[in-house]
Amino acid sequence: MGSGGYDLAVGVQYLNLNGSAPRCEHVDSLVPVTPLAATCRECQARGLGWLRLLVCLACGWVACSDDSPQHHALAHYEETDHPLAAELGSGQDHRWCYVHQRDV
Ligand SMILES: [Zn+2]
Ligand SMILES: [Zn+2]
Ligand SMILES: [Zn+2]
Repeated sequence: MGSGGYDLAVGVQYLNLNGSAPRCEHVDSLVPVTPLAATCRECQARGLGWLRLLVCLACGWVACSDDSPQHHALAHYEETDHPLAAELGSGQDHRWCYVHQRDV
């Protein structure tokens, strides 16, 4: 009893690894945004550095990426629920969805 549900959960994870995850519906409502800055303002204010910058595709907020020490783009998502970000200067065609946790 109960083992069937466990097997089903494992199967779902396997499907996701094969690229069968539900498509990201967040990209459907994208409109062009203008980046509001050329730096991570929070890092700059504290004299800290970053690896890459992401621009929020909902409001244009610019913050440091998840592989930077301070994760300010992630903090922006947690504050605002804006799901999509693109690397600043990438032409916004390489997008990350925080909700779906993958490139979209
Ligand atoms: Zn999404
Ligand atoms: Zn930052
Ligand atoms: Zn935003």
